[in-house]
Amino acid sequence: MTTTAEQPGFSTGQQAREIDAVVVGAGFAGLYMLYRLRGLGLSVQVYEAGDGVGGTWYWNRYPGARVDVKSMYYNYSFDPELEQEWEWTEKLPPQPELLRYINHVADRFDLRKDVQLRTRVTAAIYDESAARWQITTDRGEVVSARFAIMATGCLSAPKMVEVPGIDTFRGRSFHTGNWPGREVDFSGRRVAVIGTGSSGVQVIPLVAEAAGELTVFQRTANYVLPAGNHALDPEFQRDIKSRYREVRKANRESSFGIARPEATKGALEVSEDQRNAFYRKVWEDKDSELVSMLTGFTDTLTDEAANETAAQFIRDRIAEIVKDPAVAELLQPTGLFGVKRPVLGTDYYETFNRPNVRLVDVSATPLTAITESGLETTQESFEFDDIIYATGYDAMTGALDAVDIRGRGGASLRTKWADGPVTYLGLAVAGFPNLFTITGPGSPAVLSNMMVSIEQHVDWVADAIEVMRSKGVTTMEAEGAAEQAWTRHVGEAGDMTLYPKVDSWYVGSNVPGKPRVMYAYIGGVGAFREKCDQVAADDYEGFTLTR
Ligand code: NAP
Repeated sequence: MTTTAEQPGFSTGQQAREIDAVVVGAGFAGLYMLYRLRGLGLSVQVYEAGDGVGGTWYWNRYPGARVDVKSMYYNYSFDPELEQEWEWTEKLPPQPELLRYINHVADRFDLRKDVQLRTRVTAAIYDESAARWQITTDRGEVVSARFAIMATGCLSAPKMVEVPGIDTFRGRSFHTGNWPGREVDFSGRRVAVIGTGSSGVQVIPLVAEAAGELTVFQRTANYVLPAGNHALDPEFQRDIKSRYREVRKANRESSFGIARPEATKGALEVSEDQRNAFYRKVWEDKDSELVSMLTGFTDTLTDEAANETAAQFIRDRIAEIVKDPAVAELLQPTGLFGVKRPVLGTDYYETFNRPNVRLVDVSATPLTAITESGLETTQESFEFDDIIYATGYDAMTGALDAVDIRGRGGASLRTKWADGPVTYLGLAVAGFPNLFTITGPGSPAVLSNMMVSIEQHVDWVADAIEVMRSKGVTTMEAEGAAEQAWTRHVGEAGDMTLYPKVDSWYVGSNVPGKPRVMYAYIGGVGAFREKCDQVAADDYEGFTLTR
Protein backbone atom coordinates (compact mmCIF):
# COMPACT_ATOMS: atom_id res chain seq x y z
CA MET A 1 0.00 0.00 0.00
CA THR A 2 1.01 3.61 -0.16
CA THR A 3 1.33 4.40 3.48
CA THR A 4 -0.42 7.47 4.71
CA ALA A 5 -0.55 9.68 7.75
CA GLU A 6 -3.92 8.16 8.66
CA GLN A 7 -2.10 4.98 9.47
CA PRO A 8 0.08 6.05 12.34
CA GLY A 9 3.43 4.46 12.79
CA PHE A 10 3.98 3.54 9.16
CA SER A 11 6.22 5.09 6.57
CA THR A 12 5.06 8.14 4.72
CA GLY A 13 6.31 6.76 1.43
CA GLN A 14 8.29 9.95 0.76
CA GLN A 15 11.74 8.36 0.59
CA ALA A 16 12.38 6.24 -2.48
CA ARG A 17 13.49 3.13 -0.60
CA GLU A 18 11.36 3.48 2.48
CA ILE A 19 9.10 0.51 2.69
CA ASP A 20 7.01 -1.13 5.34
CA ALA A 21 8.69 -4.50 5.53
CA VAL A 22 11.70 -6.43 4.34
CA VAL A 23 11.41 -10.20 4.26
CA VAL A 24 14.66 -12.13 4.00
CA GLY A 25 14.26 -15.39 2.08
CA ALA A 26 11.79 -16.61 -0.54
CA GLY A 27 11.16 -20.15 0.62
CA PHE A 28 7.83 -21.39 1.93
CA ALA A 29 8.05 -18.98 4.88
CA GLY A 30 9.13 -15.86 2.99
CA LEU A 31 6.56 -16.23 0.23
CA TYR A 32 3.68 -16.76 2.62
CA MET A 33 4.87 -13.79 4.73
CA LEU A 34 4.85 -11.66 1.59
CA TYR A 35 1.34 -12.86 0.75
CA ARG A 36 0.02 -12.00 4.21
CA LEU A 37 1.72 -8.61 4.45
CA ARG A 38 0.57 -7.65 1.00
CA GLY A 39 -2.92 -8.64 2.09
CA LEU A 40 -2.61 -6.06 4.87
CA GLY A 41 -1.66 -3.44 2.29
CA LEU A 42 1.98 -3.14 3.32
CA SER A 43 4.77 -2.39 0.88
CA VAL A 44 7.17 -5.35 1.05
CA GLN A 45 10.54 -6.22 -0.43
CA VAL A 46 11.66 -9.83 -0.33
CA TYR A 47 15.34 -10.58 -0.85
CA GLU A 48 16.44 -14.03 -1.90
CA ALA A 49 20.03 -15.24 -2.43
CA GLY A 50 19.09 -17.93 -4.95
CA ASP A 51 18.17 -17.28 -8.54
CA GLY A 52 14.76 -18.79 -7.98
CA VAL A 53 12.18 -19.04 -5.22
CA GLY A 54 11.81 -22.21 -3.15
CA GLY A 55 14.35 -22.03 -0.32
CA THR A 56 15.21 -25.55 0.80
CA TRP A 57 13.63 -26.99 -2.34
CA TYR A 58 15.60 -24.66 -4.54
CA TRP A 59 18.99 -25.41 -2.95
CA ASN A 60 18.62 -29.15 -2.30
CA ARG A 61 18.55 -30.32 -5.91
CA TYR A 62 20.59 -33.46 -5.28
CA PRO A 63 19.42 -36.80 -6.69
CA GLY A 64 16.94 -38.43 -4.36
CA ALA A 65 15.94 -35.27 -2.47
CA ARG A 66 12.37 -35.49 -1.27
CA VAL A 67 10.44 -34.40 1.76
CA ASP A 68 9.72 -37.00 4.42
CA VAL A 69 6.34 -35.65 5.47
CA LYS A 70 3.35 -36.76 3.40
CA SER A 71 2.54 -34.49 0.47
CA MET A 72 -1.06 -34.05 1.60
CA TYR A 73 0.17 -32.51 4.86
CA TYR A 74 3.26 -30.73 3.55
CA ASN A 75 1.69 -27.85 1.67
CA TYR A 76 0.05 -24.51 2.30
CA SER A 77 -3.37 -24.51 3.95
CA PHE A 78 -4.09 -20.79 3.62
CA ASP A 79 -6.02 -20.92 0.38
CA PRO A 80 -8.82 -23.49 -0.02
CA GLU A 81 -8.71 -23.28 -3.82
CA LEU A 82 -4.97 -23.82 -3.95
CA GLU A 83 -5.13 -26.89 -1.75
CA GLN A 84 -7.94 -28.34 -3.89
CA GLU A 85 -6.47 -27.63 -7.30
CA TRP A 86 -2.92 -28.88 -6.76
CA GLU A 87 -2.57 -32.60 -7.48
CA TRP A 88 0.23 -34.39 -5.65
CA THR A 89 1.64 -37.46 -7.35
CA GLU A 90 3.55 -39.26 -4.59
CA LYS A 91 3.26 -39.98 -0.89
CA LEU A 92 6.58 -38.15 -0.37
CA PRO A 93 7.05 -35.66 -3.19
CA PRO A 94 10.46 -35.33 -4.78
CA GLN A 95 12.29 -32.02 -4.86
CA PRO A 96 11.35 -31.15 -8.49
CA GLU A 97 7.64 -31.52 -7.67
CA LEU A 98 7.99 -29.38 -4.54
CA LEU A 99 9.83 -26.73 -6.53
CA ARG A 100 7.09 -26.79 -9.18
CA TYR A 101 4.50 -26.35 -6.43
CA ILE A 102 6.19 -23.35 -4.85
CA ASN A 103 6.70 -21.76 -8.26
CA HIS A 104 3.02 -22.34 -8.97
CA VAL A 105 2.18 -20.56 -5.72
CA ALA A 106 4.49 -17.65 -6.61
CA ASP A 107 2.73 -17.26 -9.98
CA ARG A 108 -0.80 -17.91 -8.78
CA PHE A 109 -0.58 -15.13 -6.18
CA ASP A 110 1.60 -12.87 -8.32
CA LEU A 111 4.33 -12.87 -5.67
CA ARG A 112 7.40 -12.54 -7.87
CA LYS A 113 7.11 -8.81 -8.43
CA ASP A 114 8.17 -8.16 -4.83
CA VAL A 115 10.97 -10.75 -4.76
CA GLN A 116 14.47 -9.69 -5.72
CA LEU A 117 16.55 -12.75 -6.55
CA ARG A 118 20.35 -13.20 -6.47
CA THR A 119 20.50 -10.81 -3.54
CA ARG A 120 21.87 -11.66 -0.13
CA VAL A 121 21.05 -9.48 2.86
CA THR A 122 24.31 -8.73 4.63
CA ALA A 123 23.22 -6.42 7.45
CA ALA A 124 20.15 -5.25 9.31
CA ILE A 125 20.81 -2.28 11.56
CA TYR A 126 18.16 -0.74 13.78
CA ASP A 127 17.91 3.03 13.68
CA GLU A 128 16.45 3.92 17.05
CA SER A 129 15.64 7.52 16.25
CA ALA A 130 13.52 6.55 13.25
CA ALA A 131 12.40 3.22 14.69
CA ARG A 132 13.28 1.61 11.36
CA TRP A 133 15.57 -1.12 10.11
CA GLN A 134 18.32 -0.27 7.62
CA ILE A 135 18.79 -3.34 5.47
CA THR A 136 21.92 -3.69 3.34
CA THR A 137 22.40 -6.22 0.57
CA ASP A 138 25.45 -7.66 -1.16
CA ARG A 139 24.52 -5.54 -4.16
CA GLY A 140 25.13 -2.43 -2.07
CA GLU A 141 21.47 -1.52 -1.80
CA VAL A 142 20.14 -0.02 1.41
CA VAL A 143 16.45 0.07 2.23
CA SER A 144 14.69 1.36 5.28
CA ALA A 145 11.85 -0.73 6.64
CA ARG A 146 9.57 -0.60 9.65
CA PHE A 147 9.69 -4.39 9.96
CA ALA A 148 12.51 -6.84 9.33
CA ILE A 149 11.30 -10.40 8.99
CA MET A 150 13.85 -13.15 8.84
CA ALA A 151 12.45 -16.09 6.86
CA THR A 152 15.95 -17.45 6.42
CA GLY A 153 15.23 -21.14 7.08
CA CYS A 154 16.34 -23.52 9.80
CA LEU A 155 18.65 -25.64 7.66
CA SER A 156 20.09 -23.26 5.12
CA ALA A 157 23.68 -22.54 6.18
CA PRO A 158 25.64 -25.56 4.85
CA LYS A 159 28.38 -27.00 7.03
CA MET A 160 31.58 -28.49 5.58
CA VAL A 161 34.07 -30.88 7.14
CA GLU A 162 36.55 -29.34 9.56
CA VAL A 163 39.72 -30.62 7.87
CA PRO A 164 42.23 -28.74 5.75
CA GLY A 165 42.49 -28.87 1.97
CA ILE A 166 38.89 -28.57 0.79
CA ASP A 167 39.82 -25.98 -1.81
CA THR A 168 42.73 -28.01 -3.13
CA PHE A 169 40.63 -30.89 -4.49
CA ARG A 170 40.90 -30.93 -8.30
CA GLY A 171 37.80 -33.05 -8.95
CA ARG A 172 34.20 -31.93 -8.62
CA SER A 173 32.88 -31.02 -5.16
CA PHE A 174 29.22 -30.79 -4.17
CA HIS A 175 27.35 -30.01 -0.99
CA THR A 176 23.84 -31.50 -0.92
CA GLY A 177 22.47 -28.20 0.35
CA ASN A 178 23.96 -26.20 -2.51
CA TRP A 179 23.51 -28.52 -5.45
CA PRO A 180 23.83 -27.25 -9.03
CA GLY A 181 20.63 -26.69 -10.97
CA ARG A 182 21.70 -29.02 -13.79
CA GLU A 183 21.85 -32.77 -13.93
CA VAL A 184 25.15 -34.13 -12.65
CA ASP A 185 26.38 -37.28 -14.35
CA PHE A 186 28.25 -39.71 -12.10
CA SER A 187 28.46 -42.56 -14.60
CA GLY A 188 31.55 -44.62 -14.18
CA ARG A 189 33.15 -42.15 -11.76
CA ARG A 190 34.85 -42.69 -8.42
CA VAL A 191 32.65 -40.86 -5.94
CA ALA A 192 32.90 -40.16 -2.21
CA VAL A 193 29.91 -39.30 -0.06
CA ILE A 194 30.75 -37.87 3.36
CA GLY A 195 27.85 -37.99 5.79
CA THR A 196 24.96 -40.33 6.45
CA GLY A 197 22.20 -38.03 7.73
CA SER A 198 18.91 -37.46 5.87
CA SER A 199 20.67 -35.99 2.83
CA GLY A 200 23.37 -38.67 2.61
CA VAL A 201 20.80 -41.44 3.02
CA GLN A 202 18.81 -40.04 0.10
CA VAL A 203 21.69 -39.36 -2.26
CA ILE A 204 23.73 -42.54 -1.64
CA PRO A 205 21.47 -45.14 -3.34
CA LEU A 206 21.07 -43.07 -6.51
CA VAL A 207 24.73 -42.18 -6.84
CA ALA A 208 25.60 -45.83 -6.22
CA GLU A 209 23.50 -46.82 -9.23
CA ALA A 210 25.39 -44.46 -11.53
CA ALA A 211 28.92 -44.37 -10.15
CA GLY A 212 31.75 -46.71 -11.03
CA GLU A 213 32.73 -46.85 -7.36
CA LEU A 214 31.08 -45.20 -4.38
CA THR A 215 32.82 -44.85 -1.03
CA VAL A 216 30.62 -43.76 1.87
CA PHE A 217 32.32 -42.11 4.83
CA GLN A 218 30.19 -42.68 7.91
CA ARG A 219 30.96 -41.12 11.27
CA THR A 220 27.78 -42.07 13.11
CA ALA A 221 25.41 -44.77 11.92
CA ASN A 222 21.82 -43.61 11.66
CA TYR A 223 18.51 -45.39 12.19
CA VAL A 224 17.01 -45.41 8.70
CA LEU A 225 13.38 -46.43 8.37
CA PRO A 226 11.90 -47.47 5.02
CA ALA A 227 10.30 -44.44 3.36
CA GLY A 228 7.58 -46.60 1.80
CA ASN A 229 7.18 -44.00 -0.90
CA HIS A 230 4.61 -44.76 -3.55
CA ALA A 231 2.37 -43.12 -6.12
CA LEU A 232 -0.43 -41.33 -4.34
CA ASP A 233 -3.72 -43.20 -4.37
CA PRO A 234 -6.23 -40.81 -6.02
CA GLU A 235 -8.89 -42.02 -3.59
CA PHE A 236 -6.68 -41.04 -0.61
CA GLN A 237 -6.08 -37.63 -2.17
CA ARG A 238 -9.81 -37.11 -2.78
CA ASP A 239 -10.63 -38.20 0.75
CA ILE A 240 -8.14 -35.78 2.38
CA LYS A 241 -9.27 -32.94 0.14
CA SER A 242 -12.89 -33.59 1.04
CA ARG A 243 -12.14 -33.01 4.72
CA TYR A 244 -9.10 -30.76 4.58
CA ARG A 245 -10.32 -28.32 7.26
CA GLU A 246 -10.64 -31.12 9.79
CA VAL A 247 -7.25 -32.61 8.75
CA ARG A 248 -5.49 -29.25 9.06
CA LYS A 249 -7.03 -28.62 12.47
CA ALA A 250 -5.90 -32.00 13.74
CA ASN A 251 -2.35 -31.43 12.45
CA ARG A 252 -2.21 -27.97 14.04
CA GLU A 253 -3.30 -29.33 17.39
CA SER A 254 -0.90 -32.28 17.34
CA SER A 255 2.63 -32.58 18.74
CA PHE A 256 4.66 -32.82 15.54
CA GLY A 257 2.27 -31.14 13.11
CA ILE A 258 1.10 -34.54 11.89
CA ALA A 259 -1.93 -35.88 13.73
CA ARG A 260 -1.34 -39.35 15.18
CA PRO A 261 -3.43 -41.60 17.38
CA GLU A 262 -2.65 -40.75 20.99
CA ALA A 263 -0.33 -43.34 22.59
CA THR A 264 -1.66 -44.63 25.89
CA LYS A 265 1.00 -47.06 27.07
CA GLY A 266 4.73 -47.15 27.52
CA ALA A 267 6.79 -49.57 25.43
CA LEU A 268 7.64 -51.63 28.52
CA GLU A 269 4.02 -51.84 29.64
CA VAL A 270 3.16 -54.18 26.78
CA SER A 271 4.60 -57.60 25.96
CA GLU A 272 7.64 -57.97 23.73
CA ASP A 273 5.41 -59.55 21.06
CA GLN A 274 2.97 -56.64 21.12
CA ARG A 275 5.81 -54.16 20.98
CA ASN A 276 7.52 -55.83 18.08
CA ALA A 277 4.22 -56.26 16.25
CA PHE A 278 3.81 -52.49 16.41
CA TYR A 279 7.38 -51.83 15.24
CA ARG A 280 6.98 -54.33 12.40
CA LYS A 281 3.73 -52.74 11.27
CA VAL A 282 5.41 -49.34 11.11
CA TRP A 283 8.43 -50.82 9.31
CA GLU A 284 6.31 -52.59 6.67
CA ASP A 285 3.33 -50.28 6.29
CA LYS A 286 3.77 -48.07 3.24
CA ASP A 287 1.52 -45.48 4.82
CA SER A 288 3.70 -44.99 7.90
CA GLU A 289 4.79 -41.48 8.80
CA LEU A 290 8.24 -40.22 9.71
CA VAL A 291 7.06 -39.96 13.31
CA SER A 292 5.09 -43.24 13.47
CA MET A 293 7.87 -45.16 15.21
CA LEU A 294 8.22 -42.36 17.77
CA THR A 295 4.59 -41.98 18.68
CA GLY A 296 3.34 -45.54 19.24
CA PHE A 297 4.36 -45.53 22.89
CA THR A 298 4.30 -42.75 25.44
CA ASP A 299 7.92 -43.08 26.49
CA THR A 300 10.06 -43.66 23.39
CA LEU A 301 11.50 -40.16 23.63
CA THR A 302 11.75 -40.03 27.41
CA ASP A 303 12.87 -43.44 28.70
CA GLU A 304 16.13 -45.07 27.62
CA ALA A 305 14.96 -48.64 28.16
CA ALA A 306 11.77 -48.03 26.17
CA ASN A 307 13.79 -46.34 23.46
CA GLU A 308 16.17 -49.29 23.27
CA THR A 309 13.33 -51.65 22.27
CA ALA A 310 12.71 -49.65 19.09
CA ALA A 311 16.45 -49.26 18.51
CA GLN A 312 17.06 -53.00 18.72
CA PHE A 313 14.15 -53.77 16.40
CA ILE A 314 15.77 -51.58 13.73
CA ARG A 315 19.25 -53.02 14.31
CA ASP A 316 17.80 -56.48 13.72
CA ARG A 317 16.31 -55.39 10.40
CA ILE A 318 19.67 -53.95 9.31
CA ALA A 319 21.34 -57.28 10.08
CA GLU A 320 18.73 -59.04 7.94
CA ILE A 321 19.20 -56.75 4.94
CA VAL A 322 22.97 -56.24 4.81
CA LYS A 323 24.75 -59.38 3.67
CA ASP A 324 28.29 -58.73 4.91
CA PRO A 325 28.10 -59.02 8.73
CA ALA A 326 31.01 -56.61 9.25
CA VAL A 327 29.28 -53.95 7.13
CA ALA A 328 25.96 -54.64 8.85
CA GLU A 329 27.61 -54.12 12.22
CA LEU A 330 29.05 -50.78 11.15
CA LEU A 331 25.63 -49.68 9.89
CA GLN A 332 23.91 -50.60 13.14
CA PRO A 333 23.60 -47.52 15.34
CA THR A 334 24.50 -47.94 18.98
CA GLY A 335 22.92 -44.81 20.45
CA LEU A 336 19.39 -43.74 21.23
CA PHE A 337 16.76 -43.88 18.50
CA GLY A 338 14.83 -40.90 17.20
CA VAL A 339 16.39 -38.10 19.25
CA LYS A 340 18.83 -37.48 16.48
CA ARG A 341 16.61 -36.62 13.48
CA PRO A 342 14.87 -39.82 12.31
CA VAL A 343 15.71 -40.64 8.71
CA LEU A 344 13.65 -42.21 5.95
CA GLY A 345 15.40 -44.03 3.14
CA THR A 346 14.70 -45.97 -0.01
CA ASP A 347 16.98 -48.98 -0.59
CA TYR A 348 19.52 -47.43 1.74
CA TYR A 349 20.77 -50.55 3.52
CA GLU A 350 20.37 -52.62 0.32
CA THR A 351 22.83 -50.27 -1.38
CA PHE A 352 25.64 -51.61 0.81
CA ASN A 353 25.18 -55.04 -0.81
CA ARG A 354 26.31 -53.63 -4.15
CA PRO A 355 29.80 -54.62 -5.28
CA ASN A 356 30.68 -51.01 -6.20
CA VAL A 357 29.92 -49.59 -2.73
CA ARG A 358 32.34 -49.45 0.19
CA LEU A 359 31.64 -48.18 3.71
CA VAL A 360 34.42 -46.47 5.66
CA ASP A 361 34.03 -45.84 9.38
CA VAL A 362 35.45 -42.39 10.05
CA SER A 363 34.66 -42.56 13.73
CA ALA A 364 37.45 -45.16 14.02
CA THR A 365 39.70 -43.56 11.40
CA PRO A 366 38.77 -39.86 11.15
CA LEU A 367 39.19 -37.72 8.08
CA THR A 368 42.41 -35.76 8.30
CA ALA A 369 42.57 -33.89 5.00
CA ILE A 370 41.03 -33.28 1.63
CA THR A 371 43.78 -33.52 -0.96
CA GLU A 372 44.19 -32.61 -4.63
CA SER A 373 43.15 -36.08 -5.66
CA GLY A 374 40.80 -37.22 -2.93
CA LEU A 375 40.97 -37.44 0.83
CA GLU A 376 42.86 -38.94 3.69
CA THR A 377 41.88 -40.61 6.89
CA THR A 378 44.19 -41.51 9.74
CA GLN A 379 44.66 -44.87 8.04
CA GLU A 380 44.32 -44.55 4.28
CA SER A 381 44.56 -42.28 1.22
CA PHE A 382 41.69 -42.31 -1.26
CA GLU A 383 41.44 -41.03 -4.83
CA PHE A 384 38.17 -39.69 -6.19
CA ASP A 385 36.73 -37.89 -9.18
CA ASP A 386 33.92 -36.38 -7.12
CA ILE A 387 33.32 -35.61 -3.45
CA ILE A 388 29.78 -35.10 -2.18
CA TYR A 389 29.55 -33.39 1.18
CA ALA A 390 26.31 -34.48 2.86
CA THR A 391 27.63 -32.91 6.03
CA GLY A 392 24.60 -30.93 7.12
CA TYR A 393 24.03 -27.43 8.42
CA ASP A 394 24.73 -24.87 11.06
CA ALA A 395 21.09 -25.33 12.00
CA MET A 396 18.60 -22.81 13.41
CA THR A 397 21.07 -19.98 13.98
CA GLY A 398 23.54 -20.29 11.05
CA ALA A 399 21.54 -18.27 8.53
CA LEU A 400 20.71 -15.59 11.13
CA ASP A 401 24.33 -15.36 12.26
CA ALA A 402 25.33 -14.84 8.63
CA VAL A 403 23.59 -11.45 8.67
CA ASP A 404 25.07 -8.65 10.77
CA ILE A 405 21.97 -7.89 12.83
CA ARG A 406 22.23 -4.99 15.25
CA GLY A 407 19.44 -3.78 17.49
CA ARG A 408 19.14 -1.05 20.10
CA GLY A 409 22.43 0.65 20.94
CA GLY A 410 24.14 -1.18 18.06
CA ALA A 411 24.03 -4.45 20.02
CA SER A 412 24.85 -7.43 17.85
CA LEU A 413 22.54 -10.44 17.74
CA ARG A 414 25.56 -12.73 17.27
CA THR A 415 27.05 -11.40 20.51
CA LYS A 416 23.76 -11.66 22.33
CA TRP A 417 23.48 -15.31 21.26
CA ALA A 418 27.12 -16.21 21.98
CA ASP A 419 26.02 -18.70 24.66
CA GLY A 420 23.01 -19.90 22.69
CA PRO A 421 19.96 -18.22 21.20
CA VAL A 422 17.62 -16.33 23.50
CA THR A 423 14.20 -15.61 22.03
CA TYR A 424 10.61 -15.05 23.00
CA LEU A 425 8.61 -17.84 21.35
CA GLY A 426 11.28 -18.19 18.66
CA LEU A 427 9.63 -15.12 17.15
CA ALA A 428 11.26 -12.07 18.67
CA VAL A 429 14.31 -10.90 20.61
CA ALA A 430 14.58 -8.23 23.31
CA GLY A 431 16.55 -5.25 22.04
CA PHE A 432 15.50 -5.92 18.45
CA PRO A 433 12.12 -4.18 18.00
CA ASN A 434 9.99 -5.11 14.99
CA LEU A 435 12.39 -7.88 13.99
CA PHE A 436 10.66 -11.23 13.69
CA THR A 437 12.14 -14.65 13.03
CA ILE A 438 9.91 -17.18 11.28
CA THR A 439 10.42 -20.60 12.89
CA GLY A 440 13.32 -19.13 14.83
CA PRO A 441 15.29 -20.91 17.56
CA GLY A 442 13.08 -21.70 20.53
CA SER A 443 10.03 -22.53 18.40
CA PRO A 444 8.96 -26.09 17.42
CA ALA A 445 10.24 -25.57 13.85
CA VAL A 446 12.43 -28.54 12.94
CA LEU A 447 10.70 -30.71 15.53
CA SER A 448 7.52 -30.46 13.51
CA ASN A 449 5.99 -30.57 10.07
CA MET A 450 7.61 -27.33 8.88
CA MET A 451 4.56 -26.21 6.90
CA VAL A 452 2.40 -26.20 10.02
CA SER A 453 5.00 -24.23 11.95
CA ILE A 454 5.68 -21.78 9.14
CA GLU A 455 2.03 -20.92 8.65
CA GLN A 456 1.50 -20.53 12.39
CA HIS A 457 4.45 -18.16 12.79
CA VAL A 458 3.65 -16.12 9.68
CA ASP A 459 -0.01 -15.77 10.68
CA TRP A 460 0.97 -14.71 14.19
CA VAL A 461 3.34 -12.02 12.90
CA ALA A 462 0.88 -10.74 10.28
CA ASP A 463 -1.91 -10.60 12.85
CA ALA A 464 0.37 -8.75 15.28
CA ILE A 465 1.25 -6.18 12.64
CA GLU A 466 -2.41 -5.69 11.86
CA VAL A 467 -3.17 -5.11 15.55
CA MET A 468 -0.24 -2.69 15.81
CA ARG A 469 -1.61 -0.72 12.92
CA SER A 470 -5.13 -0.61 14.27
CA LYS A 471 -3.88 0.62 17.64
CA GLY A 472 -1.33 3.07 16.33
CA VAL A 473 1.59 1.09 17.71
CA THR A 474 4.99 1.82 16.17
CA THR A 475 7.16 -0.88 17.68
CA MET A 476 6.71 -4.28 19.25
CA GLU A 477 9.62 -5.63 21.24
CA ALA A 478 10.06 -8.75 23.35
CA GLU A 479 10.74 -8.04 27.02
CA GLY A 480 13.94 -9.39 28.52
CA ALA A 481 12.15 -11.23 31.33
CA ALA A 482 9.73 -12.88 28.91
CA GLU A 483 12.46 -14.12 26.60
CA GLN A 484 14.54 -15.38 29.54
CA ALA A 485 11.56 -17.30 30.89
CA TRP A 486 10.70 -18.72 27.47
CA THR A 487 14.27 -19.76 26.74
CA ARG A 488 14.47 -21.45 30.14
CA HIS A 489 11.24 -23.27 29.36
CA VAL A 490 12.60 -24.47 25.99
CA GLY A 491 15.64 -25.91 27.79
CA GLU A 492 13.58 -27.50 30.55
CA ALA A 493 11.18 -29.08 28.06
CA GLY A 494 14.21 -30.54 26.26
CA ASP A 495 15.61 -31.83 29.56
CA MET A 496 12.44 -33.85 30.15
CA THR A 497 13.33 -35.89 27.05
CA LEU A 498 16.30 -37.85 25.77
CA TYR A 499 17.21 -35.20 23.15
CA PRO A 500 20.02 -33.55 25.13
CA LYS A 501 21.69 -36.93 25.75
CA VAL A 502 22.69 -37.38 22.14
CA ASP A 503 25.05 -35.42 19.91
CA SER A 504 23.04 -33.90 17.05
CA TRP A 505 22.35 -30.65 15.29
CA TYR A 506 19.24 -30.33 17.49
CA VAL A 507 21.65 -29.41 20.29
CA GLY A 508 24.28 -27.75 18.09
CA SER A 509 26.96 -30.37 18.65
CA ASN A 510 27.62 -30.88 14.92
CA VAL A 511 29.31 -27.49 14.68
CA PRO A 512 32.55 -27.21 16.66
CA GLY A 513 32.31 -24.49 19.31
CA LYS A 514 28.56 -24.00 18.95
CA PRO A 515 26.85 -23.72 22.35
CA ARG A 516 25.16 -26.95 23.39
CA VAL A 517 21.53 -26.03 24.06
CA MET A 518 18.18 -27.18 22.81
CA TYR A 519 17.63 -25.17 19.61
CA ALA A 520 13.97 -26.07 19.06
CA TYR A 521 10.97 -26.37 21.35
CA ILE A 522 9.79 -29.94 22.00
CA GLY A 523 6.51 -28.93 23.67
CA GLY A 524 4.53 -29.63 20.48
CA VAL A 525 3.00 -27.38 17.86
CA GLY A 526 -0.48 -27.61 19.42
CA ALA A 527 0.61 -26.39 22.84
CA PHE A 528 2.91 -23.83 21.26
CA ARG A 529 0.10 -22.39 19.14
CA GLU A 530 -2.06 -22.08 22.25
CA LYS A 531 0.73 -20.22 24.03
CA CYS A 532 1.25 -17.82 21.11
CA ASP A 533 -2.49 -17.20 20.81
CA GLN A 534 -2.72 -16.60 24.55
CA VAL A 535 0.11 -14.05 24.39
CA ALA A 536 -1.75 -12.19 21.61
CA ALA A 537 -5.09 -12.37 23.44
CA ASP A 538 -3.45 -10.95 26.57
CA ASP A 539 -2.50 -7.76 24.73
CA TYR A 540 0.81 -9.24 23.64
CA GLU A 541 1.94 -10.21 27.08
CA GLY A 542 5.73 -10.19 27.29
CA PHE A 543 6.06 -7.59 24.55
CA THR A 544 6.44 -3.84 24.94
CA LEU A 545 4.31 -1.94 22.46
CA THR A 546 5.32 1.66 21.81
CA ARG A 547 3.12 4.29 20.28
P1 NAP B 1 22.98 -34.08 9.13
O1 NAP B 1 21.78 -34.80 9.55
O2 NAP B 1 23.58 -33.10 10.04
O3 NAP B 1 24.03 -35.16 8.69
C1 NAP B 1 25.35 -34.79 8.41
C2 NAP B 1 26.19 -36.02 8.27
O4 NAP B 1 27.52 -35.63 7.98
C3 NAP B 1 26.24 -36.84 9.54
O5 NAP B 1 26.28 -38.19 9.20
C4 NAP B 1 27.54 -36.37 10.18
O6 NAP B 1 28.12 -37.28 11.06
C5 NAP B 1 28.39 -36.22 8.95
N1 NAP B 1 29.52 -35.33 9.16
C6 NAP B 1 29.48 -34.01 9.43
N2 NAP B 1 30.74 -33.54 9.58
C7 NAP B 1 31.58 -34.59 9.41
C8 NAP B 1 32.97 -34.75 9.46
N3 NAP B 1 33.77 -33.71 9.71
N4 NAP B 1 33.48 -35.99 9.25
C9 NAP B 1 32.66 -37.01 8.98
N5 NAP B 1 31.33 -36.94 8.92
C10 NAP B 1 30.79 -35.73 9.14
O7 NAP B 1 22.70 -33.26 7.75
P2 NAP B 1 21.68 -33.61 6.59
O8 NAP B 1 21.74 -35.03 6.24
O9 NAP B 1 21.90 -32.61 5.52
O10 NAP B 1 20.28 -33.35 7.25
C11 NAP B 1 20.06 -32.19 8.02
C12 NAP B 1 18.59 -32.07 8.28
O11 NAP B 1 17.94 -31.55 7.13
C13 NAP B 1 17.87 -33.36 8.55
O12 NAP B 1 18.07 -33.83 9.85
C14 NAP B 1 16.46 -33.00 8.22
O13 NAP B 1 15.86 -32.28 9.23
C15 NAP B 1 16.67 -32.10 7.02
N6 NAP B 1 16.57 -32.89 5.78
C16 NAP B 1 15.37 -33.43 5.51
C17 NAP B 1 15.23 -34.21 4.40
C18 NAP B 1 13.89 -34.78 4.13
O14 NAP B 1 12.87 -34.21 4.42
N7 NAP B 1 13.83 -35.94 3.61
C19 NAP B 1 16.30 -34.47 3.58
C20 NAP B 1 17.52 -33.90 3.88
C21 NAP B 1 17.66 -33.11 5.00
P3 NAP B 1 27.73 -37.23 12.63
O15 NAP B 1 26.34 -37.78 12.70
O16 NAP B 1 28.74 -38.06 13.30
O17 NAP B 1 27.79 -35.79 13.04
